[in-house]
Amino acid sequence: MIRTEHALLSPSLGHHKHLVSFTYGDPLARPKVYIQASLHAEELPGMLVAHHLRSALEAAEREGRLSGCVVLVPAANPIGLSQRLDHKPMGRFELDTGENFNRHYPDLADAVFEQARRGLGEDPQRNVSLVRQWVGQWLTQWTPQTELESQRRCLLALSHDADVVIDLHCDWEAVMHLYSEEACWPTIQPLAATLGCQAVLLAKNSGGGPFDERLSGLWWQLRERLVAVGVDRPLPQGCASTTVELRGEGDVDHAQAQTDAQAIMRYLEHLGVLATQGPVQPLPPMVCKATPLAGSQTLQTPLAGVLVYLVPTGAPLNVGDAVAHVIDPTAPDASRVHVVRAEVSGILYARVGNRYLVAGAEVGKIAGATAFRTGDLLGA
Ligand SMILES: [Zn+2]
Repeated sequence: MIRTEHALLSPSLGHHKHLVSFTYGDPLARPKVYIQASLHAEELPGMLVAHHLRSALEAAEREGRLSGCVVLVPAANPIGLSQRLDHKPMGRFELDTGENFNRHYPDLADAVFEQARRGLGEDPQRNVSLVRQWVGQWLTQWTPQTELESQRRCLLALSHDADVVIDLHCDWEAVMHLYSEEACWPTIQPLAATLGCQAVLLAKNSGGGPFDERLSGLWWQLRERLVAVGVDRPLPQGCASTTVELRGEGDVDHAQAQTDAQAIMRYLEHLGVLATQGPVQPLPPMVCKATPLAGSQTLQTPLAGVLVYLVPTGAPLNVGDAVAHVIDPTAPDASRVHVVRAEVSGILYARVGNRYLVAGAEVGKIAGATAFRTGDLLGA
């Protein structure tokens, strides 16, 4: 194991933050899997899973079971971790710019497009190596102007050449679910199965430049853009990425985190990163079907008030089912409350954390089976 501290750009006199990465196995071995936690800094279940993964990976390394390489970044957002306001953590948006820590990553397909147009050949594996090399060079020459840019560059430098990228997040209150790109799904499906995901949201470019999709989008987007200018070279999907939502923010629990870490270790075995102990166990079946992210309905309230849920997370809903009450206790008629109803059928996979809502606020999310949304598909 190699523990490395990566210095971020100093934003002000006397300040210096750093990221810590752990590398298990030979850094040049394949497959390479990159795992990070808490890019949204107040989302802590992943940090605890990373803690338990460290012991498991160290044991695997001692036993000589690591044939691939795993890079683990347990606390991916030291900037966000340091932000607090009114005694509350503020880890989703950088306070200085208002930017979401998981958006605005650079378009890597665009960054290497000219080199790829001229330099790719007929050997698919060589093409994958070349693209990884060019992205690495582009990241080296990128000179960040801010601390936030330097954090983004550092995370991409650690992950850009990985075969699989697992970004550990959570929602406010949620069942286990994950987001991935359609091109990654064949590789990510076994992870969804081992984790017991109750919803899977697939997209072809969600928009906004999130970390995971920049790494996997690089491959299919570069291929599409080359074909559009008449360059048809074999370019496999060199990276499969996913954002795993480890339930809700309050689900920071040793037993759950150990189970999740074991599920990830089992997935690493499936990928051939870890040699298996004893006979290979078949992967469990999926407990849900993958649905389009464009079919996910975000419930909202047109009225302000106290939020009272009528159904738990994970509840299967039909169109018209009551999900929550939003109550204005100052209304003239005390018997009237606003009922938030499902507009699509599917699992209620996430609820919000606050119980007072302003007009227009989110209430929850339902994984519908039919795509109906367009444009940027991720929330703020
Ligand atoms: Zn998040």
